[in-house]
Amino acid sequence: MGRYYCLDNPDTLTLSTIVTASAPGRLLLRESPFYPGGGGQLPDRGLLRWAGGESAIIGFDLQDGDVWHLLADAIELPAGPVEAAIDPVFRQLMRELHTGLHIVNALVYQSCDGALVTGVQMNEDGTARIDFDLPEADNDRLRALEPEINDVIRRDLAVRASLVSQAQASAEPGLIRSRSVAPPPAPDGLVRIVEIVGLDRQACGGTHLASTGASRPLRILKIDNKGRHNRRLRLGLEGSPREGMA
Ligand SMILES: [Zn+2]
Repeated sequence: MGRYYCLDNPDTLTLSTIVTASAPGRLLLRESPFYPGGGGQLPDRGLLRWAGGESAIIGFDLQDGDVWHLLADAIELPAGPVEAAIDPVFRQLMRELHTGLHIVNALVYQSCDGALVTGVQMNEDGTARIDFDLPEADNDRLRALEPEINDVIRRDLAVRASLVSQAQASAEPGLIRSRSVAPPPAPDGLVRIVEIVGLDRQACGGTHLASTGASRPLRILKIDNKGRHNRRLRLGLEGSPREGMA
């Protein structure tokens, strides 16, 4: 398996492709536009359509480098042409949250002496959390980042991805932002770098916006101290269900 198709083509929401293997309720596609989850980003949802039918795609099963698509129906499709269609609203939500987490990550990293991330999770209700190894910073200082976050969104900075060698990735300070895990290099040995131009560069997978201005405003809902080395910021896109409760 190469790099996920969606990483290079995050705007492709519908793709004509071919079923290459199938078992009841699951199949492999020659190319798949879906993000199967990972790195705190939820798996895409969507539909598979073929001549005479369709079924919802309800999950993914990664086995030996293959991404099996799990269908809502226990049918077994013959090898042949199909159309894969991503749920556009859900993908957009994940792109907004994922890009928002990069902005928060960048601002915390810059203002808190290179604090590293210990965990992230994006949620389908338009909220997300990000944990930092931040033993010292006070929560008021973190709360004060909210206008800066939204200033970055308003400035509509370009977001782009590139590939660098493992050696280059290790040599550039600040590129690996997670305290515990570095994103695995692709089979070709390259590491994907996601850049918010003028703000931040970091190694990452997942799907991001093309520019920060495509995001709704982001609010800091809550800050929790989850142990000495774990400061948890809960965030919500404007209009998300829980944002209204903050
Ligand atoms: Zn990312």
